[in-house]
Amino acid sequence: MGFQDKVVVVTGASRGIGRATALEFGRQGAAVVVNFLKDAAAAASTAEEISAAGGRAAVHQADVSDYAAAEGLIKFAVQEFGDLHILVNNAGITRDGLIMLMSEADWDVVQSTNLKSTFNCSKAAVRHMLRKRRGRVINITSIAGQIGNAGQTNYSASKAGQIGFTKALAREVASRGITVNAVAPGYIETEVWASVPEAARRTALTLIPLGRTGQPEEIAKAVAFLASDDAAYITGHVLTVDGGMAMF
Ligand code: NDP
Repeated sequence: MGFQDKVVVVTGASRGIGRATALEFGRQGAAVVVNFLKDAAAAASTAEEISAAGGRAAVHQADVSDYAAAEGLIKFAVQEFGDLHILVNNAGITRDGLIMLMSEADWDVVQSTNLKSTFNCSKAAVRHMLRKRRGRVINITSIAGQIGNAGQTNYSASKAGQIGFTKALAREVASRGITVNAVAPGYIETEVWASVPEAARRTALTLIPLGRTGQPEEIAKAVAFLASDDAAYITGHVLTVDGGMAMF
């Protein structure tokens, strides 16, 4: 129960990695705000699973690509649970396509959902954390932001942007006891992975030294570590959790 008395906001926690992360924090005693965009039933199910296990959770709909909505999410957490210790910027989307076929709209929506949301939620959360002189921000980026991925110029750019953001913010707020880190997953078994064509999935598996995809829970454990007291001396770091696909 490493997060007893801690308040956590997880963006995009209705499904996939966000859901697993919310459940992990709930299991370890945190009060968790489960954010979602559209799927209210799935978000409610994440919160119910936390409550059923004896934890505390509240659901809040917000489009985190919108600054006012992101600010509202952070305010909700503080009002509901009286504080905010940890922000996990997890919400993200893909709109894949080769650049010649990629529309401007597909570029823009990926930047606003993946990268601007990280600015939006972090700015609102850090305002609170600065006053408290402590806090943790963890951004879910991707190895696509580190090594690139054909057909994902928009997504790779947004994820590389999150890495630059992580390092810059880490430098800005370190003196106030706030750490800012990123987790870069490889291929993780969520709905996104399930939508990849079978042939492409087989090819992808050959690129993973550990020979398998990751589970959302394996990302959640890495996030929980970076949020824990054990990681107090780690900031501006990108923790790759990818079965060895991208080695630096
Ligand atoms: P999913 O598609 O399973 O879930 C995405 C989540 O984000 C949902 O909860 C969705 O809410 C929410 N969301 C989407 N847009 C918004 C928005 N504008 N405002 C608030 N919430 C929003 O994604 P994954 O679990 O696969 O991915 C989670 C993160 O991990 C993403 O940032 C992704 O880029 C990253 N990642 C994933 C990898 C993978 O292999 N799965 C690999 C590398 C990185 P709703 O259900 O309401 O639509």
